[in-house]
Amino acid sequence: MKKLYAEVIVDISHEKLDRPFTYALPEELREAAVPGSAVTIPFGNGGRLIRGYIVGFSDSCGLDDARVKSVVSLDTGDETSESKLISLAAWMSRNYGSTMIQALKTVVPVRKKYGEVTVTTISLTDRCRADEYAALCRQKGWKARLRAVEELMRYGELPVVQLRSAANVDGGVIRKLEEDGVAEISSVSELRRVVKEAETFPAPVLTEMQRRAVDLILEEWEGRNRPVLINGVTGSGKTAVYIELASRVIGSGQQAIVLIPEIALTRQTVLRFVRRFGEKVSFMHSRLSGGERYDQMKAARRGEVSVMVGPRSALFAPFPHLGLIVIDEEHEETYHSENSPRYHARETAVRRAELEGAHVVMGSATPSVISAYRAEQGEYLGVTLAERYGGSILPEAEIVDMRAELMSGNRSVISRKLSDRIGETLLSGNQVMLFLNRRGYTGSITCRSCGNVIKCPHCDISLTKHRNGRLVCHYCGHEQPDAAVCPACGSPHIGGITVGTEQVEEFLRSAFPGAGILRMDADTTKGKEGHAGILTEFGARRADILVGTQMIVKGHDFPGVTLVGVLLADLSLSDSDYRSAERTYSLIAQAVGRAGRGEKKGTALIQTYQPEHYAVTAGAGQDYRAFYEEEMKFRSLMSYPPAGHMAAIFGFSRDEALLSKGMGYIRRYIDRIDPEGKLMAIGPAPDAVGRIRDCYRQVIYIRHRDRDMLVLAKDYIEEYVSVNSGFENIRIQFDFNV
Ligand code: ADP
Ligand code: ZN
Ligand code: ZN
Repeated sequence: MKKLYAEVIVDISHEKLDRPFTYALPEELREAAVPGSAVTIPFGNGGRLIRGYIVGFSDSCGLDDARVKSVVSLDTGDETSESKLISLAAWMSRNYGSTMIQALKTVVPVRKKYGEVTVTTISLTDRCRADEYAALCRQKGWKARLRAVEELMRYGELPVVQLRSAANVDGGVIRKLEEDGVAEISSVSELRRVVKEAETFPAPVLTEMQRRAVDLILEEWEGRNRPVLINGVTGSGKTAVYIELASRVIGSGQQAIVLIPEIALTRQTVLRFVRRFGEKVSFMHSRLSGGERYDQMKAARRGEVSVMVGPRSALFAPFPHLGLIVIDEEHEETYHSENSPRYHARETAVRRAELEGAHVVMGSATPSVISAYRAEQGEYLGVTLAERYGGSILPEAEIVDMRAELMSGNRSVISRKLSDRIGETLLSGNQVMLFLNRRGYTGSITCRSCGNVIKCPHCDISLTKHRNGRLVCHYCGHEQPDAAVCPACGSPHIGGITVGTEQVEEFLRSAFPGAGILRMDADTTKGKEGHAGILTEFGARRADILVGTQMIVKGHDFPGVTLVGVLLADLSLSDSDYRSAERTYSLIAQAVGRAGRGEKKGTALIQTYQPEHYAVTAGAGQDYRAFYEEEMKFRSLMSYPPAGHMAAIFGFSRDEALLSKGMGYIRRYIDRIDPEGKLMAIGPAPDAVGRIRDCYRQVIYIRHRDRDMLVLAKDYIEEYVSVNSGFENIRIQFDFNV
């Protein structure tokens, strides 16, 4: 396509995004113009010259050429934070597959619709003048004006409403002061800020190990400036390192974005930033109103805050001089967006930092296999924090074989060993945390006698039981009948495992009648206080046992907890996707890391049906290396990411037959664009959930060694879908390295 015309938006706000204007692009500008370029264009009837931003190109315009105006100039070297965000959106739209408009809407915060909160203030123009004026008032007997000016002299400036009530005067008097030139009235929009007047504290003194990490990172910033991955055991002080790095950046007049997985579960992390940086910090959370949210972004744009803490979307804070992006708990899946464009905050952060000359620092106690791989390849700088702060020792972990438990007749979800340990811990006055891994329950079939999970013969991925009773593979569509007995050992104790937190709570109540028990799951955290309330209760030791689902309460240290139990540790192993072992390792290692944060040594008990699985044994020992090496063998063998690249092509439609037909066409088209068969394609198959709200979902997976090939294939498919009929009622979405 020739870049003959440019699509230009003149105002970057949500409402205007859908309406770009078409301008002819003069020949000499075509090469340099890119999405995001700032341009000068004639606008409106008078042809007034204004600033606009290019969001796309086309080679035809559908209008009479004579009526199309031309771009006047490219304003290079004049990149605003807006134009950088537009370039980022262009990259997202191409790299993840979405329209430019969808990508722009992701990076540009919702504006207006929310009335601004404005305050009208009045201030003295000049003090000498006020003195003279007061004298004049006394002389002339203007009592009201005298009261007002005296009050003003006391403060210099104050809100008009306040002056009116304090001096007991009306609007007329205020206007008089302005007319007489003693005072000025101005309206400023007040931003709804989340942090006000916070007390700040000096930075903690870093330990020797933390200082070394900081030095290594600063050295990297001076040199290659690769993204940094901190692999730091739980409690090693990653947050202290982030705070130190953020102070450096802020000290040089730049700003920092700190991404966290979910604010409700990471309150203490946020508070630590507030304690250090006070009002310079803003944070985004789900309970902010739209107006508040918009104001946070505006404060960032104006440079009124220097640190933005928040989930995925905080990545798009429009800072004028972005210096650092921190991604805490970088392995968390909440960083992967489920809406189009299905971007990953990690890659997008790296891209944004590249565009703006900023640094990226990510950290985790259980890094994602992808990031660890990149660090190993030298694409990222890997930094290790191997010891806990204060020298507290990692807890001892023990694996409990639940198959043996079943054989000896215990059918409850709590093994006798765990039950004994809970009893001892309560007697010694310490606290217990029990994690119930429920992530994995998507209908997979596990044998409780031998731990076997029924897998697809072609993909090494768990089969999922569908409503029609058949077992299906989501990757290749393989189907087989449900099993009545375990194919490995013949045991009839086979099926989906469903245990809820409530059941666990009930068990505990009858087994330990005197104990105070708190439960944290989707049901108990609905209220206003939510997670925070429950965690505070537990932290204040008003309860003995906390039972919860995958609530990795990052940033919460409970020194009273000396026993952690992980129930059904391997349940996530039966997830029907290739990252199930990674998820299981992470869950176990993070849970184990919760125990023994105080002076007393902790213990962790891991209950599993697959005690010899490497994700379980490495998780229990918090041995990342052992896990990573074993896992990479599997990924390489199967060409799963990061050994290869993989993309999903999702199709959604209300019409099942139409969807199957359309997805079938796409599959045949893929085979045509890749006659050599280097692009491995599987599917279409029903998605993990085949139908949601009467909308059918199917997926085709494509794999290739080279990610660029997948992006190219995506471009071809987008083109194919847009020019061929039959796809009007099918929505196609792409997802990379799913
Ligand atoms: P991580 O994020 O690696 O799990 P944290 O940053 O939460 O670790 O640190 C664990 C605990 O140790 C926290 O309570 C923190 O306040 C404390 N801590 C870490 N580093 C320091 C330090 N340099 N000075 C004082 N306290 C520290
Ligand atoms: Zn079996
Ligand atoms: Zn399969």
